Amino acid sequence: MLERTRIVLVNTSHPGNIGSAARAMKTMGLSELYLVAPLEFPHPKALEMASGADDIVNQAIIVETLDEAIHDCSLVIGTSARSRTIPWPLVAPREAAAKIKQEAANAQTAIVFGREQSGLSNEELQRCHLHVQIPANPEYSSLNLSAAVQVIAYELRVASLDESSLPQEEWDYRLATADEMEKFFNHLQEVMIEIDFLKMNAPRKLMTRLRRLFLRTRPDVMEMNILRGLLSAVQEKK
Ligand code: SAH
Repeated sequence: MLERTRIVLVNTSHPGNIGSAARAMKTMGLSELYLVAPLEFPHPKALEMASGADDIVNQAIIVETLDEAIHDCSLVIGTSARSRTIPWPLVAPREAAAKIKQEAANAQTAIVFGREQSGLSNEELQRCHLHVQIPANPEYSSLNLSAAVQVIAYELRVASLDESSLPQEEWDYRLATADEMEKFFNHLQEVMIEIDFLKMNAPRKLMTRLRRLFLRTRPDVMEMNILRGLLSAVQEKK
């Protein structure tokens, strides 16, 4: 499971945090690090803080957008200390690790971490299936980025060592990836605009709510094909 669990850091400002996160990962047996538009990277501070985990820093994959970092993942978990106006399915780190364990046996998964100053935007969290919150002191709940990576990575490690795991769920088709979900959401939005169900100036958080609905149901590729076919049929009827 650990080799199929990617750590994604979004827009990190301090290269030292990237190095510390790499060290946190390596101590727990994780190795795949994606950096979404880091502010300063490569940087000697990253290697300095990584200590012996410079291999992880050097192999880190740099991408421009969160979508690129998670495109092939069928389970994406976002980390944030803050709760949001439209709540997202919330889990504790242990539960998140159990879900990853169940999924990562045959699919790619990712855990996404936000910026030091402002965390993850709503839009970024809405790319995720689940929101994981580390149950910290409610009066001071924001951990340093690499400390948050360490806590989550530790739970993943403990889950990976646990032999009493849940049986693998049997399913006929694989679950849709983040990329397939995004294509579906774009198509859905396009159709809703075409039939005047979604008015661009009064969206009533409609897309957010629909995203939450479909991310919660976790469609497989066959279900996704049916939904895409249905949308195309609506477009042809117009
Ligand atoms: N001020 C920011 C916090 C940034 S901390 C905010 O308001 O969101 C940097 C990152 O560490 C966060 O984006 C998140 O990925 C992780 N993090 C810090 N504390 C956390 C917590 N209690 N639960 C989950 N993730 C946390």
